[in-house]
Amino acid sequence: MSLRLSCITLLSLSVCSLAISKEWVSGIVWPEPKRVEPGTLGNPPADAVVLFDGQNLALWNGGDKWKIENGYAISQGGGISTKEVFGDCQLHVEWATPDVVSGSGQGRGNSGVYLMGKYEVQVLDSFDNPTYFDGQAGSLYKTKPPLVNASRKPGEWQSYDIIFHAPRFDEQGTLLKPGTLTVLHNGVLVQDHTELLGTTAWDSPPVYQPHAERLPISLQFHGNPVRFRNIWLREIPDMVAQRPE
Ligand code: MG
Repeated sequence: MSLRLSCITLLSLSVCSLAISKEWVSGIVWPEPKRVEPGTLGNPPADAVVLFDGQNLALWNGGDKWKIENGYAISQGGGISTKEVFGDCQLHVEWATPDVVSGSGQGRGNSGVYLMGKYEVQVLDSFDNPTYFDGQAGSLYKTKPPLVNASRKPGEWQSYDIIFHAPRFDEQGTLLKPGTLTVLHNGVLVQDHTELLGTTAWDSPPVYQPHAERLPISLQFHGNPVRFRNIWLREIPDMVAQRPE
C-alpha cells in the first residue's frame, strides 16, 4: 500500500487530495525463475549443453572429419551434425573465417549454422565482401538479410547468439506456427524474432515440410576452412504457471 498526493491548481488555488493506492497483483502463481550461474566471458552458463569445448567433436556425427587444433575445430570434408536432437533453444557459436582472404562473395569464408539441420543462419566473411544481402553473414539464408552488418575482420573471432523457436505442425503436417530466429552477431541484434518461411535452400524457394519436434543442429562445410569454438546450447524451458480460477 502507498499514499499518493495529487494537486491541481484552479484560479490560483491549489487543491490537493490524498489517495491510497494498492499494488495490483495478477493472481498468477509463477514458479521462481531458476538461478543460473552465468558464464564468465567466453564460457558457457552452468545449465548449458556444451557441444564443443575445444577438445573433440565426439558429440557430432561427422566430427572426425574436421581438424581440431589449439582449442578450435576447422571445417573440412563435409558438414557435421549433433548426435543429440534439439527443438527450441538458445545457441552460442563462435567462428572465424580465414585470415588470409581468398575468393569473393559466397566463396569467402562460407559456412553456416543450421537449426534442425534445415534453417541456416549464414556464416560468411562479410567484411568488405559484397554479396546478395540475404546471403551475407547474419542473414537467414535466402529469407532475410541481417538488420546491420556487424562483421569483424577476416580471421577475427566472431560470435552468434541465436534464439530459435521451432515451427509447429499438427498431426496432418499442416503448419500451425512458423519457426522464428533471433540472432545477435558479436552482441549486435541482426535478426529480431524473424519468421522463417521454410527451409533455406540455395536453389529453391523456402517451403515448410513437416518434421519432428527435435532434430540435430548442423554446421556446414562449404569448401572454406572456417574455424569454430565454444559451442553451447540451452533448451528453452517451459514456464507453467497456476492461474486463478
Ligand atoms: Mg553457408
